[in-house]
Formats: sequence, C-alpha cells, structure tokens
Amino acid sequence: MPLYFDHAATTPLHPKALESMMPFLTDNYANPSSAYTPAREARKAIDHARQTVANAIGANPEEIFFTSSGTEADNWAIKGALEASKGKHIITSTAEHHAVYYTCRHLEKLGVEVTYVPVDKEGFISPIDVKAAIRPDTALISIIMANNEVGTIQPIASIGDLGVPLHTDAVQAVGHIPVDVNNLKVDSLSLSAHKFYGPKGIGALYIRKGTPIASMLQGGAQERGRRSGTENVAGIVGLAAALEASIGTIPHEQVRLTKLRDKLINEILSNIPHAALNGPKDNRLPGNVNVSFRFIEGESLLLHLDMQGCHASTGSACSSGALEPSHVLTAMGISHELTNGAIRFSLGKDTIEEDISKLMTILTKSVTRLRELSPLYDDYIKKEGVSWNTLKK
Ligand SMILES: *Cc1c(COP(=O)(O)O)cnc(C)c1O
Repeated sequence: MPLYFDHAATTPLHPKALESMMPFLTDNYANPSSAYTPAREARKAIDHARQTVANAIGANPEEIFFTSSGTEADNWAIKGALEASKGKHIITSTAEHHAVYYTCRHLEKLGVEVTYVPVDKEGFISPIDVKAAIRPDTALISIIMANNEVGTIQPIASIGDLGVPLHTDAVQAVGHIPVDVNNLKVDSLSLSAHKFYGPKGIGALYIRKGTPIASMLQGGAQERGRRSGTENVAGIVGLAAALEASIGTIPHEQVRLTKLRDKLINEILSNIPHAALNGPKDNRLPGNVNVSFRFIEGESLLLHLDMQGCHASTGSACSSGALEPSHVLTAMGISHELTNGAIRFSLGKDTIEEDISKLMTILTKSVTRLRELSPLYDDYIKKEGVSWNTLKK
C-alpha cells in the first residue's frame, strides 16, 4: 500500500459514492429529460442529490447548479458575473487556484481590469484591502476560501456585505470544514466532488437567488437553462453521496486530522534541520502540511519519495511538471530557494498516526541523501564551517 499524502490533489472514491453511482452506470442509462419510468427515476435521483448538496451548505436546491468540475464552476462564476453586469473590474487575490487566477489573466487580455489583492506571509488577505479595491464598476470579488497549496483559511465572512457580489472557490473547504453560504455571506460558491471522496469530473456552483449571472453554456436548457448539457447522473448522485458522508464526519475528522497535521509539522521542524513551514499554524485546513527544505529541489524530493512508495506533491497538481515556482508561495514573499524546496503533504480520512511515523522515516532519509548531493548545501557548509554531523543529526 502506498503512503498517500496528496488528498488536496484528489481523494479516493468513498464506497458509499460508488454504491450510489452503480445503478446509473449500469441498468439505468436513461436520459433524465426523457418521459418514461427509468428517466423519471434518474430525474428523481438528481433532485434528491441537489437537495443533499443544498442542505450541506445551507442553500436552497434551486440555488445549486451541477457543473463538470470545480474549474468550470470557477470560470462560470467569474465570466458569468462579468457578462451579467455592466462592470469591467474584478477583485481577486494573488493566492488563488489556477482556475480563478488564469480565468482572470485571460479576461485581462479581453480588456477586463483585475485588482490582485496581496496576501501576507502566511497567505491571508486583508478585508480592508479588498474593500479599498472596490470601484463603481467592480462586477465581482472572488476570493478562495481555503488555499489548496498552504491551507490558509480566509476570513470570507468579513468581506461579504460590501455591496459587490462575492464568489468563493470553496473546493478545498467543502466536506472538510463547516461551510454555510449564509454565514459566509457569499453570492456564489464553487465545489468539486473529487476533493471530498466523490468522483472526478463533477462539481457544482451555488448561485444565491437573485444574483445576476449569465449562462456559461447554451443548449438543451438543463439545470434550469443555466448550464446546458445532459446531466452526468452517476456523477451528480456520487457527488451528493460523498458529500453527505464527508459532512457527517467533519466534527470528528477536523479534530483528528488537525492533531495528525500538527504532529507531522512538529516532527519535521524538530527532526529535519533547515525546514520551514509554509502557511499559518492556525486557521489552516486540517489536513494540510506544506514545508520547504533548504538546499534541495521539491521535485527531486518528490521523485525520491515516490520511489519509496510515498505520494506527495509540490503544491498544485497543475504546476508540478511545469517547473514554474508556485505563484502562491511567491505572493507570500517566500524566497526563491524555499519556494523550490516546497512540498505539500495532504492528509485524509484513511491517514493514521502510523503513516506519519513511516513518512518521517522516509522523509528524513531522503532529505539527508539529497543534501549530500546538493552543491548548495556543500557551499553552505564550507561557508559556515559547520560539520556534517551537526547538520545530519
Ligand atoms: C482542485 C481545485 C479546483 C479545481 O477543481 P477540479 O474539479 O479539479 O477542476 C479549483 N479550486 C481549488 C481550490 C481546487 O483545490
């Protein structure tokens, strides 16, 4: 069994999600828009799923629209708000997921103006900065609820009520920490099933009743005409089943994972020299650990860990492989060297204490080995005149 520490990239499918999906992947293949018994059953299953999702986030079922992904939900929330308003200005942060960040960058090319509110060294935005960025032509504020790389949980509730529609990308939050659209005072919110033990390729956008937002896709008028395309019945049903299962475990999992997270952070910082935590100690996603190891490359460490059956990430799944430094860590003012040496370990429902011990053994060995090969480390030792033994521990 590999040691899986990449739950922020994706999660394994919950058995209850699979079970709920099976009928719609086998016997019941009816198009839910058709007019015969199996079709009506498929329609009923979608209605039930919509109600489940609405209950999970404090919304009404008419405010839930299923999409193909979290990425689509983010794109829709932003482009749709812009198209429906006369405004041509958007406020977002410098520490968004690529789905929001690159949507904004794309819109800039089309003449939209975007203000990127800065984050501090732990990844927090300031509600005061957001308020100060508002202009008469601001169409939308879009701020991520919980950061996918460093786990920072933003004070979303304190930027609601500013008189401008507010969207939040809550893809990392839903199913892991309490999310209530009324407490958060948001007008739209994105979620994605595969981040909470549901299937890949299905997400949802919550749109508060009365919020102006243009349709993203034109076609057969599904999702009350706002998101056309024959429904992914199995995906929708699986999303709801996984969400229901995850929501039920939040009170206990939040506590359990926070303990495991802090244990891993403390063990890394006390056993491995020249390691630094990225992101905050508190107001951080329960399962998120992001650390930088000086003198080595995160990518090399990942390969080393993989060879020993341990799966982690450098931060964002989309950017690993592309050797660009993380825009989130860079926005937090983290030095180039530490950005290169960053690794994210994200814990999940099957992670147990023993996995942390196993990871620590593998990690300590790998970091030591890579530093022995690192010219940067060699330079450092020569300059500082420190002996190998003190640094190796
Ligand atoms: C994964 C993720 C997305 C994208 O969701 P997909 O369903 O994979 O397209 C968007 N935002 C955040 C914060 C994410 O973690």
